[in-house]
Amino acid sequence: MTKPDPGPAAPPAARAAAVGGYILDCSYCGKPVSPTVHRRSGAPPYEVGYYRLLTGDLQLLTMQKPGEETVIVEFFKLLNPRWVAACRNCFADDRIQRELADLFSGVPEIPDGERAEGK
Ligand SMILES: [Zn+2]
Repeated sequence: MTKPDPGPAAPPAARAAAVGGYILDCSYCGKPVSPTVHRRSGAPPYEVGYYRLLTGDLQLLTMQKPGEETVIVEFFKLLNPRWVAACRNCFADDRIQRELADLFSGVPEIPDGERAEGK
């Protein structure tokens, strides 16, 4: 359960983003991240507090498609899942943006010899 945002008048520690009841720290600088702020008026209408993604190692698995004996489907199982968060300051660093993009889209290529074939 996520704690409600206490608002801009709350002390900085109380405004830190909470995920699942835990204060979320930036994976790069270690400081608690701030929640995203939405405004009813003004520009911009929101201010992103942090970026977060779930990543981990991938294992290629194959299985027979249920109900279709001749169709083999491939998928990746996420092993050792872990959250990575970046505060706004760290996300402004191009190197960190590239690393997060790689973590997000890092599905490995499957060599031709390892690709599953249908029967
Ligand atoms: Zn940071």
